[in-house]
Amino acid sequence: MPCILESRREGLFCPAGGFFIDPRGKVDLAVITHAHSDHARGGHASYLCSDNTKPLLRIRLGLKAKIESIPFGEIIKIGDAFVSLHPAGHILGSCQVRVEVGGRVWVVSGDYKTQSDRTCESFEVINCHGFVTESTFALPVFEWLPEDDVYIQINDWWLNNAEREIPSILFAYSLGKAQRILAGVDRSIGPIFIHNAVSPFLPIYEKFGVNMPLVEKIGQGSKQNYTKGLIVAPPIVEDSSLLKQFGLAKRAFASGWMALRGLRRRRNFDKGFVLSDHADWKGLLDVIVATGAESVKITHGNGESLSRYLVEIGIDASILQGYGRGRQELLV
Ligand SMILES: [Zn+2]
Repeated sequence: MPCILESRREGLFCPAGGFFIDPRGKVDLAVITHAHSDHARGGHASYLCSDNTKPLLRIRLGLKAKIESIPFGEIIKIGDAFVSLHPAGHILGSCQVRVEVGGRVWVVSGDYKTQSDRTCESFEVINCHGFVTESTFALPVFEWLPEDDVYIQINDWWLNNAEREIPSILFAYSLGKAQRILAGVDRSIGPIFIHNAVSPFLPIYEKFGVNMPLVEKIGQGSKQNYTKGLIVAPPIVEDSSLLKQFGLAKRAFASGWMALRGLRRRRNFDKGFVLSDHADWKGLLDVIVATGAESVKITHGNGESLSRYLVEIGIDASILQGYGRGRQELLV
């Protein structure tokens, strides 16, 4: 059987096509699953991504990066490999990469979720012989509520603060999560302010057809009144002096990690909203079974429990080795 993919120091490599998927280092051709910085790194000679990822990647990588894109589902030939990209439901433009060589098919999931999300394309199940899955939240304790339930929680918290004239700071990752929150909250409660890191991506989401509220950038204009406001900022500014201007604001974090109460307390948030752009335990299992894959490799997370569970139900599963550590693996 041909080797479809192999794990190398830089990441997953397709020998038949001569390309890497979401690599580190410097490679000739990087196929990128989505525009988050731990998947889309600078420095490669050329990039291939989905059409909707391209403008996001452009912001990340700058004008000089050589980026080509294809629509979801279009099959292209790279060397001796047939490659197509399919929606992963993680953030706008995010894709799974389907690689076919000599009639064998592997799919690399990138980050994904099956939950509904009005700000990106819905996840698509792809039948395959082998599936490389992420495992960020691969424990049974991670079980997401429907996103509309989480929006009700966020709106209640914001309204309660606004009625007492206390600003509400909601921390959310600047690409994907922040836009998802902006699109989902009740904009009648009060003004919405965003951090600079969130704003460059908004026009791209609007172009995709996502209905965004009117927002103001923090610090833009001298007469901003934050007392009834919702302030959306990335968690990286959590301890920065920038937040002093909001006085005794209430602070919350929107993340799948907020399912762990201890973490919320340790990080001193008033509130944690369990809203994730990754699949929960059940979502991972549903997808893996639905692909029909006979072989599953687990990356990006803590995959021991998932691996053990899959083996118990008769699927050949293990944690993907390589990436500069341990032995290199060949996926056939
Ligand atoms: Zn991601």
